[in-house]
Amino acid sequence: MPDVLVAGETLVDFLPEGDSPLATTDAFARRPGGAPANVAVRLAQLDRPAWFWTRVGDDPFGDFLAETLADRGVPDRFVERDPEAKTTLAFVSGDPTSGPRFTFYRDRTADTRLQPGRVPADALDAVEWVVVGSVPLASDPARSAVHDLVDRANARDCTVVFDLNARPELWGDADFARQADRILPAVDAVKASPEDLGPAGIEGDTDDIDAVAPRIHERGPHTVFLTLGEGGAAARATDDAPWGPAAASHGGYAVDAVDTTGAGDAFTAGVVDALAGGGRDLSAVLERGNAVAAAATTRAGGMADLPNSDSVV
Ligand code: ATP
Repeated sequence: MPDVLVAGETLVDFLPEGDSPLATTDAFARRPGGAPANVAVRLAQLDRPAWFWTRVGDDPFGDFLAETLADRGVPDRFVERDPEAKTTLAFVSGDPTSGPRFTFYRDRTADTRLQPGRVPADALDAVEWVVVGSVPLASDPARSAVHDLVDRANARDCTVVFDLNARPELWGDADFARQADRILPAVDAVKASPEDLGPAGIEGDTDDIDAVAPRIHERGPHTVFLTLGEGGAAARATDDAPWGPAAASHGGYAVDAVDTTGAGDAFTAGVVDALAGGGRDLSAVLERGNAVAAAATTRAGGMADLPNSDSVV
């Protein structure tokens, strides 16, 4: 039985061939995406298959995603098919190594229609880790579904890890900040990058963990992971954390990065894998997150096979 449950969106990314502008491209490459889906796939690649609760349309894109997830070792028990809604799509533009942009087609699509209570008690009783992100919080019923899941996870003393992913292409900063305020008191650990923090109302030196962490701790989470791109990552934990109090930084690994899309998701998977495996030294946990993430950047796509997986694992 998996000890981790990941919940949230999976979607199809379309990338213009030859990096052409969206307005003029004649052809697209199709790629599976969605931050939580990337995390679930990375965990499976690290030999820690997690439950993944998501919802796709009963359409060819939903078939593609369901098959991709299954091929990559993600258990299908909570991969729902929605007969009345389409699968979410996103069109990607910009440089994959310096911040791609997404144009979402996500109006009442299947992943926005996750319903509260669908993960049964037996599955939640068995897991110790629940990983969620901010995208489902953009609208109901998925927002209520995530809050319900987090509340039930907390009632069982699971550790809830939250990806504070701003996605300004998807919703305005004011809505994002309001939803961040609402969920932060209910989560244990937050993973963020500096550009996520301003939209969440945390201004100032957002790449300085000592400036950022106290402002997140005061909202509830005992642990903060701040990813810093090729500069690695830093973490702070209060004495409420099972592994804290602690302060750690790790400078990351120099690799020939070809695509940083989903690097943060690979980092999250590496960190959760380390913690779920009993790791309590935050420096070693960061090292693991950075190693998995750096390896992930050397291949195109957030779900591609990890290179040299023996050395990563
Ligand atoms: P995402 O695009 O998934 O939202 P993010 O902005 O959360 O990503 P980043 O800070 O860009 O995340 O990167 C996450 C982790 O990936 C970093 O902490 C680092 O370990 C690794 N990483 C990112 N870019 C590189 C790079 N060019 N070289 C090596 N490692 C990298």
